Amino acid sequence: MSGIDKPLIPQAMPATWLGVMGGGQLGRMFAQAAQALGFKVAVLEPSNDCSAGQVADDLVNAGYDDAAGLEALAQRCVAVTTEFENVPAHSLATLAQSTFVAPAAACVSIAQDRIVEKQFFTACAGSSMVLPAPHQLIETAADIARVPATLLPGILKTNRLGYDGKGQVRVSSTDELQAAFAGMHGVACVLEKMLPLAYEISVLVARGSDGAAVVYPIAENVHRDGVLFTTTVPGPHVAPDCAERAQTAALAIIGALAYVGVLCIEFFVLHDGSLVVNEMAPRPHNSGHYTIDACVTSQFAQQVRAMARLPLGDTRQHSPAVMLNLLGDLWFEDGVAEAREPAWDKILALPGACLHLYGKDSARIGRKMGHVTFVAPTLAQAQASLHSACAVLGIAL
Ligand code: ADP
Ligand code: MG
Repeated sequence: MSGIDKPLIPQAMPATWLGVMGGGQLGRMFAQAAQALGFKVAVLEPSNDCSAGQVADDLVNAGYDDAAGLEALAQRCVAVTTEFENVPAHSLATLAQSTFVAPAAACVSIAQDRIVEKQFFTACAGSSMVLPAPHQLIETAADIARVPATLLPGILKTNRLGYDGKGQVRVSSTDELQAAFAGMHGVACVLEKMLPLAYEISVLVARGSDGAAVVYPIAENVHRDGVLFTTTVPGPHVAPDCAERAQTAALAIIGALAYVGVLCIEFFVLHDGSLVVNEMAPRPHNSGHYTIDACVTSQFAQQVRAMARLPLGDTRQHSPAVMLNLLGDLWFEDGVAEAREPAWDKILALPGACLHLYGKDSARIGRKMGHVTFVAPTLAQAQASLHSACAVLGIAL
């Protein structure tokens, strides 16, 4: 393709189109950021009332591997990205035959497969100085027989398609492991040693096609029932040397992948201060939502810049921030769905509140409906607003 490495400077007439695979909230916030820069956005998504489709300039209503849909997206868009990591990698490869795709299919496919991802992390440990948790691939009963006692207690995770703690079972004995594996209906799994986590962090990094890379501040994450609950930046537990090691590791990893776009890498910090690399998401990430309101360049604007081969933006955080995920549970009362609408007026009355609702048509337990970020001159003030918000919403802290 001619001009593939030229920057895609937004232009109004005719419009410059960017494409995104997937219609969820990450696609919606990507579209909003792209539109702010003057681009038009096409979303490819099979469902026709989707969060991203509501704001996109065009919705290509097609399956993620539908040849005609991919062709339509590639014809219209000068660059295409993805908003979810389980997009078929071969669809990205198909798109790349006729348009610029970032991140590349090869990078996304590493992140889709836990074992391959861990092998990759291990292979670049020489430069990143971090290793994944001790683990073993479990595909057969014979693999279970070979599990060393040191891997137990552990967590059995499906090798592919796991997210938000889904497809994971905690096991403390070989018998429990056998039962858990039987419950996975024969899919390949990874058994990981259960580590003593002091806290969890994630690092957002972005890299341009020219190899320039930028890193965001460290986000400290609290999960509940496997789903991200809050992200706090700066993280109250994060020591400066730990932040530096994690940022250095993230930059080494994104460089080793020759990745283009925004990448989020999750790490565990153990009680002795050591870092363990957990997994990576080849896209903007829930723990990076705070960047919309607290950083010069949001993770979504950064994704736009990277895929359009424009200069990467300033990652500087201008305000301490706490992000709270708003799950569908908030719409339930006595087990009845959509029994109430949370009191958004009371949330918006809190100092530093930045509310983002994703336009989803129905509330389900655990479904990500929105988030609210509290920004303030000090972290303590942002945390005070978070506490008030939890009281308003009936969330136990
Ligand atoms: P997902 O793809 O669902 O996000 P993760 O591998 O990130 O899966 O696991 C979800 C959560 O489970 C982590 O954020 C962490 O809280 C916990 N967890 C995962 N692996 C381990 C481990 N090896 N030791 C201790 N806790 C873990
Ligand atoms: Mg995770």
